[in-house]
Amino acid sequence: MKIFVVNSGSSSLKYQLLDMDNGAVMATGLVERIGDAMGKVSQKSWPGTEREAEVEREVAFPDHRAAMHTVVDLVTGADTGVIASSAEINAIGHRVVQGGETLFKSTLIDDDVVEKIRENCHLSPLHNPANLVGIEVARELFAGVPQVAVFDTEFHQTMPAEAFMYPIPYELYEELKIRRYGFHGTSHRYVAQQAAAMLGKAEDEVNLVTLHLGNGCSMAAVRGGKCIDTSMGLTPLAGVMMGTRSGDIDPAILPFLMKEKGLSMDEVDSILNKQSGLKGICGMNDMRDIHSAAEKGDKKAALAVDMFVYRIKKYIGAYYAVTGPLDALVFTAGIGENDEIVRARVCANLEHLGISIDTARNAGRKKIATAVQADGSKVAILVIPTNEELAIAKATLSVLK
Ligand code: ADP
Repeated sequence: MKIFVVNSGSSSLKYQLLDMDNGAVMATGLVERIGDAMGKVSQKSWPGTEREAEVEREVAFPDHRAAMHTVVDLVTGADTGVIASSAEINAIGHRVVQGGETLFKSTLIDDDVVEKIRENCHLSPLHNPANLVGIEVARELFAGVPQVAVFDTEFHQTMPAEAFMYPIPYELYEELKIRRYGFHGTSHRYVAQQAAAMLGKAEDEVNLVTLHLGNGCSMAAVRGGKCIDTSMGLTPLAGVMMGTRSGDIDPAILPFLMKEKGLSMDEVDSILNKQSGLKGICGMNDMRDIHSAAEKGDKKAALAVDMFVYRIKKYIGAYYAVTGPLDALVFTAGIGENDEIVRARVCANLEHLGISIDTARNAGRKKIATAVQADGSKVAILVIPTNEELAIAKATLSVLK
């Protein structure tokens, strides 16, 4: 069973071809700058094996259709290919960011589902339209191949109303569906399942706080294997501090900024999404650069890390209060998997909560799932590399079954 996973962005297309019979990644690639005068496609076939091969090409992609054609050529090509023809692809799994309240679990795509994804576009104007383009092109190119939509919001659908409702007039929820949806759900679910396996418990028995810390950052409170709260909200702007997004701030800062600086709504939106977070404080959003600047005495870089860590700690406290006895903290994504400094500082001085990290075990980047808590720590501390493509492929497979 070969599953093609597609993550279509506004100007990019990420893909992976997986052989689900043995879990092997056959090819993984990225098309960038779709719609620009010149774009780029890069593909790795059989990554991490002796057969690994890489190809990179500068090509202009006028649209997603052109991008998808090139991708099909690459995965089937005589010199770059991993399959003889696209007919070998049994199913396609699409990442869709926002399922809203009408699409709450992975589902086989038909015209009705496409329409519902379209209806949810106003909730995720940056992502859903781009996801839809990928779906439409793939349905055209792979007519007859079953296609499945897997939603970022899916894992969070189990949140109770007290967690997903905002304390604003109820009619706004009814009219506009303004509520907490949460994102990165595929990643939170994947690491929660892996964590249960590592702990030797059933999936519905674990209480966890999962920390997806990449450029975008979110956390989830998991009780009995189900998400009961998450830090992102109606949009991915809410929650912990991120690379360029502010995370939680006093909402009155928006009108204040508009009034004091004469900014438009779009300008304020852009400040909070693109010029805030780590970047807003110290001018950098890659944690590696920030650490090295802080080491050289850059005070703003040091402050950015202090704030980043402090805000995560507060969420751990809040979520610990609602998960019940905690089995594990689970770190994942770029920073969570690779940054021993952030992990150590997030877990520092939490011994009173039964959380105690082991310096030696925590050291270094983690390419495989690793337990890093100290002996005697009541709560396990797990670093689990996320794998959203595999999770989407698995979800696709289970829909087909
Ligand atoms: P995205 O949200 O774009 O998928 P990733 O999960 O790939 O992000 O995470 C990207 C971030 O991970 C980078 O911005 C960088 O700050 C961080 N990162 C990656 N490698 C390391 C490392 N070795 N040490 C510290 N931070 C790292």
